[in-house]
Amino acid sequence: MNNLLEKLVTLQKLDLEIRKLGHALQQIPKRMLEIDRKIESTKVPFEEAKKKIDELKKKADLLAEEVIKLEVSERELKLKMPKIKSNEEYSALLKEMDTAKKKKDDFEEEQLTTIEEIESLEKELPSLEKKYLEQENGVKGERDELEKEKREIESLLIKKKEERNLVLPSIPKNYFEKYTHIASARNGLAVAPVRRGICQGCFIGVRPKIVQDLHYGEEIVYCEGCQRFLYLDEES
Ligand SMILES: [Zn+2]
Repeated sequence: MNNLLEKLVTLQKLDLEIRKLGHALQQIPKRMLEIDRKIESTKVPFEEAKKKIDELKKKADLLAEEVIKLEVSERELKLKMPKIKSNEEYSALLKEMDTAKKKKDDFEEEQLTTIEEIESLEKELPSLEKKYLEQENGVKGERDELEKEKREIESLLIKKKEERNLVLPSIPKNYFEKYTHIASARNGLAVAPVRRGICQGCFIGVRPKIVQDLHYGEEIVYCEGCQRFLYLDEES
């Protein structure tokens, strides 16, 4: 086979492999999500319970702050008592104190309910976690396998790209550009074999003169049907 054609066939083989590996690599996150989906039924309740506990704890803290503030204002109101002179002022102060106390009682009650909620969720948490970890453990093998596959694809991809870089300098620029142009228009196939007088790229018969030229292997020959580079398959 013509030396340049040999290089182009090698380049095409590498390009197709690189493309296939790239696709396989793109599928990895999707496949990881499929594994995630398998454990969703136990992971979601566990994660949600943890989130809910955090939210409730924040709420309980805020309520505690409010209660303290109201206790302070209650004490301040009490200190005003001895200075009061009229009945009107006295009943106004009592009313104010009463309102503050009611508000504080409400907050305290809410605080208590919140703490109870936290406690009951915290009781549930270990069993939720156990169920989740059991499922997570069950898919660990699958996850490891997928990670391993990913690493293998990545290293193979690097290797193939290195091989490609070694081939490239031996291909003249104009032929490389033509190759790239045809490959992008023809789904990655820029070089096609001729078998029994037929181009395997477009399955159109090749003129005997062209087959003859291919035999000599001195010229670069293109298919008249699909414009691909042609080479003669050894078997035919
Ligand atoms: Zn063709």
